[in-house]
Amino acid sequence: MSGSVSQPRAAVVVTGSELLTGAISDKNGPWVAEHLGELGFEVSHVLVVGDRPADLADALQFVRGAALVVTSGGLGPTADDLTAEVVAGFAGVPLELDEPMRAHIADILAAWARRTGFDGPALEEANRKQAMVPRGATALTPVGTAPGLVVTVPDGPVVVVLPGPPRELQGMWPAALAAEPVRALLESVPPARSRSLRYYGLPESEIAATLRDIGAGGLDLSGIEITTCLRRSELEVDLRPGPGASADALADALIAAHERHLVSADGTSTDALVATGLLDKGWTVATGESCTGGMLASRLIDRAGSSAYVAGGVVAYSNAAKTALLGVPAEMIAEHGAVSPEVARALADGARERFGADVGIGITGVAGPGGGTEAKPVGYVCFCVTTADGVVIARDPRLPGDRSDVRERSTDAAMHLLLRAVRG
Ligand code: ATP
Ligand code: MG
Repeated sequence: MSGSVSQPRAAVVVTGSELLTGAISDKNGPWVAEHLGELGFEVSHVLVVGDRPADLADALQFVRGAALVVTSGGLGPTADDLTAEVVAGFAGVPLELDEPMRAHIADILAAWARRTGFDGPALEEANRKQAMVPRGATALTPVGTAPGLVVTVPDGPVVVVLPGPPRELQGMWPAALAAEPVRALLESVPPARSRSLRYYGLPESEIAATLRDIGAGGLDLSGIEITTCLRRSELEVDLRPGPGASADALADALIAAHERHLVSADGTSTDALVATGLLDKGWTVATGESCTGGMLASRLIDRAGSSAYVAGGVVAYSNAAKTALLGVPAEMIAEHGAVSPEVARALADGARERFGADVGIGITGVAGPGGGTEAKPVGYVCFCVTTADGVVIARDPRLPGDRSDVRERSTDAAMHLLLRAVRG
């Protein structure tokens, strides 16, 4: 579904022949697009072009109607790094040596030369090339060795030129937003009034049906752009109101219709909710994992500051490990099988007790492709969360997909059970 949107448009042009051969996958397009969206832009295109000046020039022409264009890559010292030159041509201005920038890059390169022993004319040449700036452009301090650029194209977009290595691009982003032409543009962007709802365990068809009901009930949806996106196990519904419209009444109706499956009404991620939930309760968590092999612990520990609430985890893959490391009785495994609700519970209790944690979570399942039986087919996974004050939440779904799908979905399911536990 789509409607008119009041947000100014932005586009992303990603360069790099290695992205077209499939040698590496694009990390910058999605990252920049997401951040532009958060700033209130409507992203019209993410284009990927090779390191050929004519192709880059064509891409820039294609998106010249956008208010803001962000490019990535091609700022380095090698012959295939031509972005500054092409963008200067696009703006109709010559490249000029930025002497303070040359001196600044020379300092960076000198430190690098001392560390690596590479020095001499090649470095001089690289230095000079990277300090060439389109006339009138703002140069952004290098995060690596290449400066970024902000170029205002007459009767065209503001072009932000960023380096290709994702770490450098992301490191330069705050400076790019602070540069005067971008700052001025951001001031004119109306604040995003979009809403983002996140559900778990709800099929897309349910949202489609609910939208039909809401529309039939008389709420006018015509001015709102609605996108539903299945992200792994979660369904994200984004509502973007056009000029004069509001998404709030629709958001309220969607929240009320599927309250049980709602994860967040403001787009907050499950992982963030689990983290703040554990922090608010002052709880620590411990994991006892079999088929997920530590993926849950890794996911919990992914967040900075997780030491405040993650006690630890055990990957207990063999039966002997389950018994020795987490105290799962060997007789229980013999009687019910390693993949059973009983063993999931014992893994949770064992992890909680051995780590002295407030909440424990156990996962045991048949990830496949072999090992399935009629009673316990591939994808059958048992979960249990137990807390020190006696709460027990257990599930034993059959998850679809191949081995890696089952393990990923198991990790998602475990995060959602944990969320249920911390929300009480
Ligand atoms: P350098 O000075 O390193 O040459 P650059 O700005 O010229 O920087 P590129 O030459 O386009 O950037 O890319 C350098 C490297 O950065 C690539 O080989 C690749 O490893 C990584 N890279 C570039 N663009 C992307 C991208 N869109 N997604 C992921 N990695 C990228
Ligand atoms: Mg390069």
